[in-house]
Amino acid sequence: MVSEFEIIRSYFARPVRRALLGVGDDCALIAPEADTVFAVSTDMLVEGKHFHVGADAAKLGHKALAVNLSDLAAMGAAPRYATLALALPDADEAWLAQFTQGFFRLADAFGVELIGGDTTRGPRNISVTVIGTVPQQLALRRDGAKAGDEVWLSGCSGDAALALAHLDRRTRLSDAALAHCLARLHTPVPCIALGLALRGIASSAIDVSDGLLADIGHIAERSGVAVELRYAELPRSRALGACADERLAQECLLAGGDDYELAFTVGPDDSKRVESIAAELGLALTRIGSVTSGEPGRVSGYDASGKMMQITRKGFDHFGS
Ligand code: ADP
Ligand code: MG
Repeated sequence: MVSEFEIIRSYFARPVRRALLGVGDDCALIAPEADTVFAVSTDMLVEGKHFHVGADAAKLGHKALAVNLSDLAAMGAAPRYATLALALPDADEAWLAQFTQGFFRLADAFGVELIGGDTTRGPRNISVTVIGTVPQQLALRRDGAKAGDEVWLSGCSGDAALALAHLDRRTRLSDAALAHCLARLHTPVPCIALGLALRGIASSAIDVSDGLLADIGHIAERSGVAVELRYAELPRSRALGACADERLAQECLLAGGDDYELAFTVGPDDSKRVESIAAELGLALTRIGSVTSGEPGRVSGYDASGKMMQITRKGFDHFGS
């Protein structure tokens, strides 16, 4: 039976690069680069709630870090460090080897150092804290949107939710569509390069983890503005575009969650800059709505026929219906 210390030494301790002191002491020691501040965020994945028993360990390692890096992206921060608190029912070395492979592969891709954590026996639970750096004035906050700004979205929303709908037998996807949607659900790629490129350009930003409407609602609330979305202009992946059940498609697009795209606002004169970022980074960026001086926190929109709609937790609803 391997001990906690052997697990840490075999799987988590790696030579430091940027950190002053990494795994092995009571604390890690780190310093921000000159003229930057730390951006810090924690997200936890709980067995039975965020993933099912027997879920692929390598994908869990990837996703546990990816959902955290997505928060750094939404802040315009450069990823630097992570800590990992892990509760495991047993010292399953095959599981640990797979998990760390998925975790470190993504960490290495984004230059993230694992500098500490905690390992304990218990119901499987994965909590990651990430630390990034950003010049204080350039951090992309939720509270900077202004009336007249445009709302943009990277990529498409809804694919992860569509995968879940397939697994729950609420729809049937083709093999290709299912493969695409499962990858979006299990191995999301955080929009780090986009977050960095939006420094000094976006007036606000958020990563779409709880559903597009809910997350745009957070920008609206924190900024004290209203948002009008153009439903017909919301980008759809090929998989979602092929979904014949429009009610389900709408629910996935607007309220699905687990998208890890960035929603952000820019001033009306900055569209060209956003378009050149899209071209430079090879990303799809779509204008999906506008910021108005309406009721603070309110998100409303227009359907394809130009009719005004109200947003509910489930999605769009026509007023009065
Ligand atoms: P302490 O008793 O001070 O909490 P631990 O024995 O829990 O220390 O951990 C020893 C060292 O290993 C610490 O530096 C801690 O940050 C690190 N560590 C423990 N678990 C992990 C993990 N899952 N990933 C990375 N580092 C870890
Ligand atoms: Mg400890």
